[in-house]
Amino acid sequence: MFKYLMPTKVICGENSLKENKNELILGTRCMIVTGRTSGLKSGALGDVTEVLKEKGIEYVIYDFIGNNPTIEECYEGGKRAKEAGCDFLIGIGGGSPLDATKAIAVYAVNDMDMYEIFEGNFKNKPLPMAAIPTTAGTGSETTPYSILTLHKINNKQSFSHPDVFYKVAFLDGRYTVKLPLQVARNTAIDAMSHLLEGFTDKKASRGSDYIALEGLRIIGKYADNLKMGNFTVDVCTNLLWAASLGGIVISQTGTTIVHSMGYALTYYKDIPHGMANGLLLGEYMERANKVMPEKVKLAMDALGMSIEEFKAFLKECLPCEVSFTEEELIKWSEVSIKAKNVPVCPFEVTREDELEIYKKCLL
Ligand code: NAP
Ligand code: FE
Repeated sequence: MFKYLMPTKVICGENSLKENKNELILGTRCMIVTGRTSGLKSGALGDVTEVLKEKGIEYVIYDFIGNNPTIEECYEGGKRAKEAGCDFLIGIGGGSPLDATKAIAVYAVNDMDMYEIFEGNFKNKPLPMAAIPTTAGTGSETTPYSILTLHKINNKQSFSHPDVFYKVAFLDGRYTVKLPLQVARNTAIDAMSHLLEGFTDKKASRGSDYIALEGLRIIGKYADNLKMGNFTVDVCTNLLWAASLGGIVISQTGTTIVHSMGYALTYYKDIPHGMANGLLLGEYMERANKVMPEKVKLAMDALGMSIEEFKAFLKECLPCEVSFTEEELIKWSEVSIKAKNVPVCPFEVTREDELEIYKKCLL
């Protein structure tokens, strides 16, 4: 038996917003949630405001979302959306603004303590949301997850709820074609990580596996573009679709230890999320290969690489100058072994195993 849920309408293709303007209008008054620069740099903010003006929809812009959004930024956004009387939200940006939009949608209609959001039992249905991703990585536009930075616990923590799926997502490579190369690589590797973790996860099913393989085939096809840094709008639209497929996959399966171990690298060392995963992903696939060689072969064939070639690809795409100490790795493994992603890992993993993975990948 397996369950499959994917309630988001995805509109994928060049000019997907301009040709489907009515789909963006989910209410009468809107808050646009975006990063400090991504909305403007991608061109998506200009396109969205043009549509809202044309349709006579009033809007406010909340462009204070930083990388790895904090719970405080989202709580404040919720307060402002409520004060402005907004009844729908549009998230524009990478995973950070898209995740923040989900939390803001909850806070805007619920009088609740900031931390209660992690309990997932809010009384009122979150505001409806539209997503415009400007990175091709997290797949947040097709997941019910929001990952927030929580300084209280010195880590990132996620909440998940079926009511925070976006109603609609517009995927258009025009918004990612000018991404800085390292951001494009990091985010594509995050998408690979979702597809590979989801495919090898104990919760993987027929409902997720064929989607994961399709996503891997697409990214594999454009591996050279990621290495060389040459992108067209069409390539970028395809990479956005692959990232959304990664989101669909992890919506069914969740992620495994690559993600839970990666959070410490981001929190303590400011390593971008996708790069953090990528530093650990090769070793993870080696270990998965020991317990499920046939499945790993399917995944690698879809990517068009052997595990060795995949590791070389990751190394080439992820120059990381950060240094780590054994003490740090010991501390992080003590925390990450308690994550809920651990039991779904395809191989047995103890704190000592996680420490060994950290050491092998980072020292
Ligand atoms: P991000 O933090 O959203 O953005 C990274 C950087 O890229 C930011 O500086 C951003 O600028 C910039 N940027 C974004 N789009 C751009 C564009 N088109 N042109 C130029 N610059 C652009 O990175 P991300 O990797 O997409 O998202 C990471 C976050 O998503 C993490 O918090 C991670 O935990 C979360 N995540 C969520 C899920 C999920 O299922 N919900 C899954 C995986 C990861 P601005 O600062 O101006 O925005
Ligand atoms: Fe991720």
